[in-house]
Amino acid sequence: MKTDILIIGAGCAGLYCALHLPKDKNILIITKDKTEHSDSFLAQGGICMLKDKSDYESYFEDTMRAGHYENNPKSVEIMIRSSRDVIEDLLHYGVDFNREADGSLCFTREGGHSDKRILFHEDITGEEITGRLLAQVKMQPNIQIVEYCTMLDILCGDNICCGAVLRDKEGNIFGVNADFTVLACGGIGGLYRHTTNYRHLTGDGIAIALEHGIALEHINYVQIHPTTLYSAAPEEKSFLISESVRGEGAVLYNVKKERFVNELLPRDVLTKKIYEQMEKDGTPYVWLSMEHIPEEELNSHFPNIVKHCREKGFDVFHECIPVVPAQHYFMGGIKVDLSSRTSMERLFAIGETACNGVHGKNRLASNSLLESLVFAKRAAKVMSKSRDEKNVMEASAETTDFSCYKDAEALAEEYKTNVLNEIERLNKLCTIQLQ
Ligand SMILES: Cc1cc2nc3c(=O)[nH]c(=O)nc-3n(C[C@H](O)[C@H](O)[C@H](O)COP(=O)(O)OP(=O)(O)OC[C@H]3O[C@@H](n4cnc5c(N)ncnc54)[C@H](O)[C@@H]3O)c2cc1C
Repeated sequence: MKTDILIIGAGCAGLYCALHLPKDKNILIITKDKTEHSDSFLAQGGICMLKDKSDYESYFEDTMRAGHYENNPKSVEIMIRSSRDVIEDLLHYGVDFNREADGSLCFTREGGHSDKRILFHEDITGEEITGRLLAQVKMQPNIQIVEYCTMLDILCGDNICCGAVLRDKEGNIFGVNADFTVLACGGIGGLYRHTTNYRHLTGDGIAIALEHGIALEHINYVQIHPTTLYSAAPEEKSFLISESVRGEGAVLYNVKKERFVNELLPRDVLTKKIYEQMEKDGTPYVWLSMEHIPEEELNSHFPNIVKHCREKGFDVFHECIPVVPAQHYFMGGIKVDLSSRTSMERLFAIGETACNGVHGKNRLASNSLLESLVFAKRAAKVMSKSRDEKNVMEASAETTDFSCYKDAEALAEEYKTNVLNEIERLNKLCTIQLQ
């Protein structure tokens, strides 16, 4: 089988990239699960935008500070300066951001931000954005999405990628050749017991990169979200209590219902403070109170959170909810340049799977949807420019022996173990270097 461009992953990065590729190219997008089951659909808080030029320095500094100044400043600059263009695209696709009474865009604030610069749609911003992108993609005759189809490996030789080995819903294993292959396969939450991510997001792109010696960066930089709803029985995925709730005035209490921390500290610092408090109190959670936020504000800005908590037996208007940190985001990933090119020719990586250095050691809230979109579009531009180049490696999908992929479950386990071992190795290395 042959396609012009193969995109692994149907989250916001994969979909937006596809929309910016030439209309005369055949594009195949595959997703491991149902299309709507991507982390992009789960994003609650919002997406950042450079409101006006005067906010540039402050937005840049907030991103760098949150990332412990380990960010790539050039990537940060590109992301911020491209934000208005991306938001214009989204508005053009019909994304319905919340607005002020006068019709202007409404901005909110989250931890680590020194100003309100986050656009949102209630508390389901990701669903609104990704749903609109998906609707656009479905209208394009040159783009096909195949659900429940898993990338097991890439096809490559001489450090040139020429497609991927896939397993479809029926268990058939086959190769797809492509002039360009784009890894847009999201984060690694599925490797952790407590995570806000979909379980099927297990860092497959990272495992495959490890296998083929494709350069990785900072894969031990894993963000823990400070506030997810505590459940005595670990659930499929932990329910996120968005940072915007704290941005709008929710406070954290210890076991004695006393405030113990500045709730708007960057995520990693706040997480550490919460763990310390849990240890002091001898409890598996701390309390979050939304009681100071006006009821109308809670209902209009956070209807999904209010509803979910109610379903779990909590009345957020009149009582505290128990919250605990959980794995949330992956700052590291497949090392890419400013146009999302990996160290392997004809292989791109975008979205959470990629690392262009924007987030440094810790992501600033609401920068990831934006980063995914900005750098997906840049990847698409590079691929569009090399329109007539054909991949010289085309034949290998026909000649490869796929029998080694037959035991897909064993392969998935092996991939998980390899990624976790590498993360652990890097963490140990960091500890040794600090001593
Ligand atoms: C609960 C939650 C709330 C969030 N809130 C915000 C927010 O408010 N603002 C913000 O900016 N960011 C937020 N984020 C982060 C943001 O949603 C993600 O970083 C971003 O959506 C990642 O997009 P993506 O396209 O890279 O990956 P995803 O949207 O996760 O998509 C990954 C895709 O890859 C596919 N895939 C994976 N492996 C394979 C494989 N082997 N074969 C085939 N397909 C594969 C998956 O099926 C899926 O389609 C939040 C994340 C979570 C979990």
